[in-house]
Amino acid sequence: MKVIDSIREYRGLLGSIARPSGLVPTMGFLHEGHRNIVQEARLGNASVTATIFVNPRQFSPAEDFEEYPRDPEADIELLDSEGVDFVFMPSVEEIYPDGFGTTINVGAVAAPLEGKYRPGHFQGVATVVCKLFCICRPDRAYFGQKDIQQCAVVNRLNIDLNLGIEVVVVPTVRDDDGLAISSRNVYLSSSEREAALFISRSLFHVLEMWRSGEKNSNRLKSHTKSMLELSPLLSIDYVSIADPQSMKEVKSATAGSVVAIAARIGKTRLIDNITLE
Ligand code: AMP
Repeated sequence: MKVIDSIREYRGLLGSIARPSGLVPTMGFLHEGHRNIVQEARLGNASVTATIFVNPRQFSPAEDFEEYPRDPEADIELLDSEGVDFVFMPSVEEIYPDGFGTTINVGAVAAPLEGKYRPGHFQGVATVVCKLFCICRPDRAYFGQKDIQQCAVVNRLNIDLNLGIEVVVVPTVRDDDGLAISSRNVYLSSSEREAALFISRSLFHVLEMWRSGEKNSNRLKSHTKSMLELSPLLSIDYVSIADPQSMKEVKSATAGSVVAIAARIGKTRLIDNITLE
């Protein structure tokens, strides 16, 4: 496995990279969710590149960019053990040199939900993902369903700019008790972690309700909210039932609709979602 921090060096290798090549963009502090994505990429491609870059442009000034957990040595070990060929881990200056001025705005799909609560977040995501696509020129790129709106944003970007990359969405990996694994879970105290379980439990519950015949989106959402409100530590940003491509709210929840939750527990903001199927 080769660890590369310069764009010039990565571009120099492009001609010799085995194809198809898969790209797994991450912000590091890797966990089993990332491992699962890397394994999926490894299965389907002749070469795999993972990127580690904590992208300042997707954090607002009030968010946790400086404190975001980092452990590059452990990350490199995990990626090596999964047979990754290249790790691209550029500095902030390498990605955003002096004079950098382009911002990618993918439009309506980025506006609701995370877009509303984290203004500018998806501009930062779309800009860095587009740059990583331009630098690494993958055939396929892998993203986690855990960040479902991010998947929709990347799909839009890929279609609108004719990037021609196959975007693969990999299912969410959960701890045994159901909590979606996230690098930010390290911020949770044990009582906060207990509270966080209300998120996945209410998603599993709403899935059962839907399977039992309740299709009215408002009723499903209000039921989900009342479950979440049982935890005094948890404060809801949104409960949404949306189409996973457009991220528009649906009135009637059909197979393929996504129930998404964002909630704050103490200083930690968590998101999770489930597909109705
Ligand atoms: P991050 O490092 O948080 O930016 O995540 C990098 C990629 O891993 C993104 O595509 C995430 O959606 C994905 N990811 C994060 N957590 C999980 C999880 N628990 N299961 C599956 N994918 C995940």
